[in-house]
Amino acid sequence: MEHFISNEQFNMIKSQIIGMQRQANVTSDEGVKTAVKEAAEAKVHDIFQHLTPDQEKLISGIASLETEEERTKFLMDLMPYRTSFPDVTPADLRGLFPKVKKLPVPDLENMDFRALTYLGWKDIGQSKQYFVYVRDGKLKGIQGRYVISAKKGICSLCNRFGDVALTSIQNKPRESEGLKSYGQYICYDSKECNQSIQDSAQLEAFLGQV
Ligand SMILES: [Zn+2]
Repeated sequence: MEHFISNEQFNMIKSQIIGMQRQANVTSDEGVKTAVKEAAEAKVHDIFQHLTPDQEKLISGIASLETEEERTKFLMDLMPYRTSFPDVTPADLRGLFPKVKKLPVPDLENMDFRALTYLGWKDIGQSKQYFVYVRDGKLKGIQGRYVISAKKGICSLCNRFGDVALTSIQNKPRESEGLKSYGQYICYDSKECNQSIQDSAQLEAFLGQV
């Protein structure tokens, strides 16, 4: 079977299963439990299009999971079918930012590429943030600047509440105009962001402005 579950889809399924677990711990009302399980199953089906019968079978049956053991096994059984972020090298990254001299490169050797919706890293000395993600089938590199927020906030990419930085990216919509800046609060730690992101729409909306 082909790999078909992206990082954000896996996170979404995981969050539904955790929600079911929580519900099972706090209620003994079978009607409520069944409703939660059926809603979770429907939501998970909704995030996929064009599944093969085997893939369909793999993600089905959420509503019939009864125990913590079964829920854990369900997630473990999905693991081999996760897709991976493209296997990039430091040279690939430098190629995406040709104008940046001495581009710092993240520790790619110890990175789990299956757990990435985007690759994000910082040049702390320069307060610069780098993003790499797949747009229209190609790797796209975008750089921005960041200012650490003194207060915790909600990340606009993954909706997680935690340490965030106001991150801004710039572009020039027209030759005749000046640079336009777009800022969003984004998780300070991109690894945590990638563990929370459940949908790539907000990432694409933000980075797609450049
Ligand atoms: Zn985030």
